[in-house]
Amino acid sequence: RTRTSGDLIRAEEPVLAHNYHPLPVVVAHAEGAWVEDVEGRRYLDMLAGYSALNFGHRHPLLIEAAHRQLDRLTLTSRAFHNDRLAEFAERLAELTGLDMVLPMNTGAEAVESGIKVARKWAYEVKGVPADRATIVVAAENFHGRTTTIVSFSTDETARTGFGPFTPGFRIVPYNDLAALEAAVDGTTAAVLIEPIQGEAGVVVPDDGYLAGVRELTRRNNCLFIADEIQSGLGRTGRTLAVQHEDVVPDVVLLGKALGGGIVPVSAVVARREVLSVLRPGEHGSTFGGNPLAAAVGTAVVELLETGEFQRRATELGGVLRDGLTGLVGHGVVGFRSRGLWAGVDVDPALGTGREVSERLMREGVLVKDTHGSTIRLAPPLTVTEEELRSALGSLQKVLTRG
Ligand code: PLP
Repeated sequence: RTRTSGDLIRAEEPVLAHNYHPLPVVVAHAEGAWVEDVEGRRYLDMLAGYSALNFGHRHPLLIEAAHRQLDRLTLTSRAFHNDRLAEFAERLAELTGLDMVLPMNTGAEAVESGIKVARKWAYEVKGVPADRATIVVAAENFHGRTTTIVSFSTDETARTGFGPFTPGFRIVPYNDLAALEAAVDGTTAAVLIEPIQGEAGVVVPDDGYLAGVRELTRRNNCLFIADEIQSGLGRTGRTLAVQHEDVVPDVVLLGKALGGGIVPVSAVVARREVLSVLRPGEHGSTFGGNPLAAAVGTAVVELLETGEFQRRATELGGVLRDGLTGLVGHGVVGFRSRGLWAGVDVDPALGTGREVSERLMREGVLVKDTHGSTIRLAPPLTVTEEELRSALGSLQKVLTRG
């Protein structure tokens, strides 16, 4: 007999590492903003793979691009050129207003690569003494899970048991330009921040912060690295979240939605002076820049070039904001949102974020909690107004019923 959701969840227990605590739903099929479990129950996906599914599940143009490429060429390694990579890099550079692209696979790899490039730039261009470069980061950051990245996390769960850590990082409070200024000195290679802190609970900095970081890094001759892995590619209503303040960083890190929810694709996109510090043999990845990734990534860039998804995120973001505003005082203590992205603090008396997520699941809406009593909402940018309103209705229902 075919295995039920319960069977499959129990089967994972002895054979899968327990580094996640998923909601008890086993997805077997998905399309657009909807997923379907093994028993055929349908759920509205209000998480969208932590923004890896900005264009929804199996967007027809992305699936078509992947199919076409699967029938032609999937992998060469960078030992050879492939006929898809030039166009991907050209169009991604154009989309972001930067010059050069270093293709990688996962978000954490893009962050690691950005750190390496910034350090090398500090030694070769800025003239920092060997092995003395520092990078300033923000408290409550989330940039991934590698040993170097957790070295500058402030989340003890992410760090404990994984030392010794990589030195060379300074941590300052987020959204605090004075603290940033005080931490920057002649050794500073870069300031690395999320334009909106996603995992921290969709923390949106004050207006002027990102422009302030840009001005401060320029004045102090260090790089501004924006980790747009979760905030970028349409989510907030702009192609990049830094564009809300008309800021162009020196380095932009992209991932998640860049692979269209089909393949892992990430990239370091930067000014020529920065990425030019890499020479043959100094950095690489077997899968980075593979033709399947490049084909899907190019199709993603094409979707973003239309402006349609940024427009939808802005318009539907208004619906989301208004809906959440109406829930404040009715089970919602507060929320932060930009575009189709919100962190919602639920009244702790009504349960933890996890409990609220489980109740929403039973109403046919999938979300994910972050810390404590916060849930985040990040539906595919293809969600309809009706679907969004229905999800907000479900949220109201589980919060008023308690
Ligand atoms: N940076 C940010 C801002 C993220 O939100 C994430 C993932 O949640 C990452 C980096 C790490 O990406 P990945 O999980 O693909 O390594």
